[in-house]
Order: sequence, then C-alpha cells, then structure tokens
Amino acid sequence: MVLPIRPDLKGLTPYGAPQDDVTARLNVNENPYAPPPSVVDAITRAVHQAAEELNRYPDRDFTALRQDLAKYLATESNVDFLEAHNIWAANGSNEVMLHLHQAFGGPGRTALSFAPTYSMYPEYARDTLTDYVTMPRREDFSIDIDAAVAEIESRNPTLVIVASPNNPTGTALSLDEVRALAAACGKVPGGSVLVVDEAYAEFRRRGVPSAATILPSIPHMVVSRTMSKAFALAGGRLGYLAAHREVIDVLKVVRLPYHLSAVTQATARAALAHHRALQAQVDEIRAERDDTVDWLRAQGYTVPETDANFALFGPVKDREAVFRGLLARGVLIRVTGPEGYMRVSIGTAREMAMFRNALLEVTS
Ligand SMILES: *Cc1c(COP(=O)(O)O)cnc(C)c1O
Repeated sequence: MVLPIRPDLKGLTPYGAPQDDVTARLNVNENPYAPPPSVVDAITRAVHQAAEELNRYPDRDFTALRQDLAKYLATESNVDFLEAHNIWAANGSNEVMLHLHQAFGGPGRTALSFAPTYSMYPEYARDTLTDYVTMPRREDFSIDIDAAVAEIESRNPTLVIVASPNNPTGTALSLDEVRALAAACGKVPGGSVLVVDEAYAEFRRRGVPSAATILPSIPHMVVSRTMSKAFALAGGRLGYLAAHREVIDVLKVVRLPYHLSAVTQATARAALAHHRALQAQVDEIRAERDDTVDWLRAQGYTVPETDANFALFGPVKDREAVFRGLLARGVLIRVTGPEGYMRVSIGTAREMAMFRNALLEVTS
C-alpha cells in the first residue's frame, strides 16, 4: 500500500520504553507505591458519579479541577496568587507540552532546550513542525547560563524548555538561573515563552524552590507539573501548568474540545482531595534516592546531584550488556543519557536492594 506519509516521519518508530512484566520496574520514574485502598475507593465513587452523566460532554473548561489544582499547587509550592484561570491541564503533561508547541511553535519557529534532556521534547517539536535545537549542558549537567542567554539572543526561540529537575540527570535550576533565562526570553523580539518542566518537583530536596514562586513577576513563563510521578497517578493521565491568564487563553484556542474526559476529571479531583495519602511515601522515596546515590558513588560511579526520583550513573562500559544482565535478574532500568550512562528510577527498598545485588553481579 502506498501511504502519503509525511517525509519527515518516514521510517520513524513510536516513542516508548519497554513495559515488561518484571519484578522491579525501575525504568519510567513511576511512584512504586500503588494508591492506598481508601483512595481507590474515593476514586471509584467519583468515577461512579461521573458515569451517571456520561451521555453529556464533560465540562470543557474543567473549572472545578482547575480550582483544585490551583489550591494544591499553592500549598505545595507555598504561593498564594494562583487561581483557576492560572491553570491549564491535559492528558498528561505530554499533552500540555503539545498544546504549548501548537500555540507558540510552528513552522519557521524554534524551540530551544538543554541536552541531555527529556527525549519527548524533540517529538513535540517535530509534530508541530517546530525547529528543535539544543545546547549542551556542562560536564556536571548544569546549564551555562551566560552561554544560554547568548544562544537565546542569537536564535530568538519562541519556546525555551528547561526541565527542572532535569530528566535524565536529576539536575535542578536555582531561581536566579530561572530569572536569567526568563530575562533573556523577555528580550526576544516577538516574544519567547520559558517553559519550566517541573514533572519531578515534589521530590526536590529541602531548600530547592519551585519556579512557581516567582511566576507573578514573569508573565511569559509557564511552570509545568504532572500527577504521573510523585502523585502516584501515572495511569490517570493528568498533567497541568501554571501561568499568567493570557498564556492560558491562547492554550484554550488549540486544545481539542472536551479533551479532558469526565472520568479523567473525576479521577484527578478525587486524587487531589487525597494528595497527602497518595504522596505519603515521597519522603521515603527521597531517602531511598539519597541512599542509592551514596551507594552508587561508593561503587565508583559518577552520579550527578539529583532532585528527582531517579539517579543517572556511569561510566558503564557496555550499557546494553548491563541492561540485559539486570533484566535477566528481574530488574528493568533505562539506557539513556550520554554514552556510558544509565538511569535507575527509585523504587521500594526491596526493589533497590534487588537493583544493587543485580548490578554487583552483572558488573563483577
Ligand atoms: C515523566 C515526565 C513528564 C510527565 O509526563 P506525563 O505525560 O505527565 O506522564 C514530563 N516531563 C518530564 C521531563 C518527564 O520526565
């Protein structure tokens, strides 16, 4: 069959990490703890109620959910200026990011990010015919802010995307660094939106602030979050962002009508009402992360500072072989990042013990 495939899509394969049924799934940064029964019950009740009206389209503007998200983010990040009209949401922050590209990217426009970083960024750009360029991070995976500012000045990107904490390195930005990038974006003729992707924000170490705290003074910044990681709701598919109202108003234009199903809205609201129970193990995951980092360093690996629920480690001589050796022992991690590096998501104490034992066996 002859299919009129877009030339730039020819030969490409779909994005996705393996979803193998192994004992320790440590490859996609999920929260390893399932929702507690009380939260499962609350979600079930909420979905039951939504089901009684499934003949109707859902609330297109998901106002109640946006109010709940504003309240949650205000508490979590210690900010008090957020209202429903400052919040946008979609089916995972992946879709939120797509909306940003549909609204602010497009042919002849450029999105700039800092490599190594999240492997979906080039896909949002590709799908919206936006040019995607990256600047390399420093050896320790921090961003050379002076160089970044110069790059923004010379390329005039309409989108500057920075994950903080960054995936796959775990590196977080300071508020001064965010301010410097925002200032450079503010000087781009025609405008530039700074996207701070805080998918892992809830795992940040004490004293590391969210970019949300400086949102009032930066009208062209968006702070993106998700319920997929710390929230233990990856299966619920709910991502969101906070921004000034003018930004939200543009995103409304590009979304498909009724993009957030009534079932999704009900699930997310019930989960938000129980955010403490759902995130009960975040402190434990953080402690397990710090222990994992210490252990990996003691084994002689380089591990960048991480504020997320994963650790990047290297050098590994033959990472494909290590990947297969771990998998044979029931441990699934990720071959990602610069050559010689691998990423392990932080699981339960038992899963991390499995990981350590398996890694010792495979590399001895
Ligand atoms: C996991 C992740 C996301 C979240 O994606 P969802 O679509 O919300 O599940 C966003 N950004 C980064 C950098 C991630 O690693």
